[in-house]
Amino acid sequence: MKRKLIIIGSGPAGLTAAIYAARANLKPLIFEGSQPGGQLTITTDVENYPGFDKGIMGPEMMDIFRKQAKRFGAECLFDTVTKVDFSTKPFLVESNQNKYYADSVIISTGASARLLGLKSEEELMGHGVSACATCDGFFFKDKKVVVIGGGDSAMEEANFLTKFASEVVLIHRRSEFRASKIMVERTLSNPKVNVIYNAIVTDIFGSKDEGVGSIEINDVISGSRKIIKCDGIFMAIGHTPNTQLFKDCVNLDESGYIITKPDSTYTNIEGVFACGDVQDHVYRQAVTAAGSGCMAAIDAERWLDR
Ligand code: NAP
Repeated sequence: MKRKLIIIGSGPAGLTAAIYAARANLKPLIFEGSQPGGQLTITTDVENYPGFDKGIMGPEMMDIFRKQAKRFGAECLFDTVTKVDFSTKPFLVESNQNKYYADSVIISTGASARLLGLKSEEELMGHGVSACATCDGFFFKDKKVVVIGGGDSAMEEANFLTKFASEVVLIHRRSEFRASKIMVERTLSNPKVNVIYNAIVTDIFGSKDEGVGSIEINDVISGSRKIIKCDGIFMAIGHTPNTQLFKDCVNLDESGYIITKPDSTYTNIEGVFACGDVQDHVYRQAVTAAGSGCMAAIDAERWLDR
């Protein structure tokens, strides 16, 4: 099964690359991975993607991207890549089910939610601990929940959760937010949101049967500890690039993001390109991911032509 182009990942970057590559007659094969549609499928309203003046729900937008790619002949596989070998030509891309070969590969595996690393967080994940307000917010109707983080994601999640929860406590480790001004203003003016600054979560208490009952926080200035009763806790502390598969063959920066050559999507391996959040820790927007997906398809097409 040899292809001209395999695309690994199906967020805005991968699916935009698929649209462009399919229209260039490269008949791309897209591995959708464990989260088809990528991070936008766990977000709510997307209000800043040009062309949707009234906003659109993330999952719906990704369905439209996928349909558009398929219209031009892109093939989407609900399968996850488990191994790649870029030292052979054609390149090998392997899933649990099959081996595939390709003349060129576009990596668009995105990034995943970061967690605090507490044992209790791991134990209670899905039992009151969540990294996705969109997925789990509904379960906290009229309950008190906590959101951790000070970036745009934390603001977005805190605001979203007020649709369900009776109270949202936003806990940030510093006294200043990293989030954009408009998001901070919206959050601070929401009467259901209370903010605790300069604090970190040191433990989460609860059980798999009963869910979360409380958390322990540590004031990083005074050093004092405090228990806060709550029914759920949402992590919104950023993301880690999904580059585990490529760490031995593609050049990564110190944070694990794929390094692309300036003004292009070229990686250090001829014929392997990267786009979207897997190589962008600065902008990380759907529209910038889509833009770099377009670049990757054009780079791949021109490279294949040569
Ligand atoms: P982020 O900007 O990296 O923010 C992560 C936040 O989590 C920071 O406030 C950070 O604190 C905190 N944090 C990190 N590790 C922590 C830990 N171990 N314990 C406690 N707190 C921790 O990530 P993000 O909010 O997910 O946003 C990522 C990108 O997506 C940004 O470019 C953002 O603008 C964009 N985004 C945009 C929208 C929108 O426009 N609608 C929505 C969501 C995200 P410090 O500040 O102290 O480092």
